[in-house]
Amino acid sequence: MSENRLGARQVELEVLRYNPESDEAPRYQRYSVPCKNEWCMLDALNYLKDNLDPTLAYRWSCHMQVCGSCGMMINGEPKLACKAMVRDYEGVIRIEPLAHFPIERDLVSVADDFMDKLKRVKPYLIPGKPKTLEEGEYKQTPEQMQRYRKFSMCINCMLCYAACPEYGLTKSKFIGPAAITLAHRYNLDSRDGGRDERQEEIATNEGVWECTFVGACSDVCPKHVDPASALQQVKVASTVDWYLEHFMSWSKK
Ligand code: SF4
Repeated sequence: MSENRLGARQVELEVLRYNPESDEAPRYQRYSVPCKNEWCMLDALNYLKDNLDPTLAYRWSCHMQVCGSCGMMINGEPKLACKAMVRDYEGVIRIEPLAHFPIERDLVSVADDFMDKLKRVKPYLIPGKPKTLEEGEYKQTPEQMQRYRKFSMCINCMLCYAACPEYGLTKSKFIGPAAITLAHRYNLDSRDGGRDERQEEIATNEGVWECTFVGACSDVCPKHVDPASALQQVKVASTVDWYLEHFMSWSKK
């Protein structure tokens, strides 16, 4: 990197380019971008697109670590482009789409598999005892909310899927960290009664039992959701379910 008279440093970005409709294979394209000290990687990409190459495709929306749409690999690690600061990197910076997902175009990943898995685990409240409007809200105490609060902070950025070696190996099968964590978040909610429906999806070989507890999902999560701990909690709860079910049927004999 070198500094110009405006105080910006020339940063070399090596960006994966691929249009499945016209390219035989992905390739890397090098750009020299004048980056300010306070820029995140998304600022650098926006400069690149506005001034150097308008054909580059990538997703973003909020620029404040909330929408979860600017996930990409930066020097081989899953990151939010709006959180990774350019100043934290040396030399040529390689930028690629999220690992383990097909490429829609350039840095845009196809998210269909993740969306399908999210739907399967029913990540929404299924009231145990439905109420009429006249009966009022579904209330809970701050202590009841604390049981699941950490797991509710997920922004669906898919970084944990890009980091998960198990998802990379068995991607069409493993439901994966974020979807299972969201199922667990609703299972822990005192207002919910949908646990049995979700357990049919997540307490299975395609669910938690595919997880080998590498923990990379929690390492890369930008919102500190800690999906690895959620999956281990689901394993323990499912094991207790299994013992109770078999012990109860055995004790009735
Ligand atoms: S668990 Fe973390 S890394 Fe995974 S999708 Fe949610 S916010 Fe992103």
